[in-house]
Amino acid sequence: MGRRKLVVGNWKMNGLKAQLGEVEAIGVLAARHPVVEVGLCLPATLIAPAQAIRGAAFIGAQDCHMKDNGAHTGCLSAAMLAEAGASWTIVGHSERRQDQGETDGDVAAKALAAKAAGLHVILCVGESLDVRDAGHAESVVSAQLLASLPEGAAADWLAIAYEPIWAIGTGRIPTMEAVEAMHRALRAALATKIGAEAEGMRILYGGSMNGDNAAELLAIADVDGGLVGGASLTAAKFAPVIAAA
Ligand code: PGA
Repeated sequence: MGRRKLVVGNWKMNGLKAQLGEVEAIGVLAARHPVVEVGLCLPATLIAPAQAIRGAAFIGAQDCHMKDNGAHTGCLSAAMLAEAGASWTIVGHSERRQDQGETDGDVAAKALAAKAAGLHVILCVGESLDVRDAGHAESVVSAQLLASLPEGAAADWLAIAYEPIWAIGTGRIPTMEAVEAMHRALRAALATKIGAEAEGMRILYGGSMNGDNAAELLAIADVDGGLVGGASLTAAKFAPVIAAA
């Protein structure tokens, strides 16, 4: 065991240079909680300026292309993000799976491209409300995870984020029992593919995590941190989540 808690803000399409003060303040918070690994996945335009003021927080990206370079107008390679100052990237967020039609295969390829560029990776999975209501959440998300998992998946560069789609940005979260059961199922699914390595891999919860529910969520066995959207946009909102970890 001994998995270090990982708490990562996902700013999505939010943040101009005027918000760099929040990045700096979150970097200071991170330094106050060295037991927790804290990071911010920022819009690509903020990665370089954030890198200079990040304190003890790491700076990450929110996506990368699966190819190293080429004719892909508007896209960013993992090497570009790394050069700008990212040390992590998210891949497979449900908003990209939905809005950009990313498949499980794309997500696995992106994770490998990120690793090749030296980035650490947070790979996101999660079910729709229909799947949850039908009672198939654990089997569907486990299958999604195995289909999205890159070759050579290992705890020293990859973390998983379980994010129920219906909980993202809605203020709704699953019951603690459902979160516990899902994380246990995902670790068991990982073990079928990577064996004992699954024990060290961090599985984060994401979806309306905030200062009010973080302590309870982060106390669940197999919940090794959080991927936090709205509640990571200011240091004031993020502080209690980091403290809870
Ligand atoms: P939320 O977003 O915390 O605003 O629900 C989480 C995420 O999508 O990563």
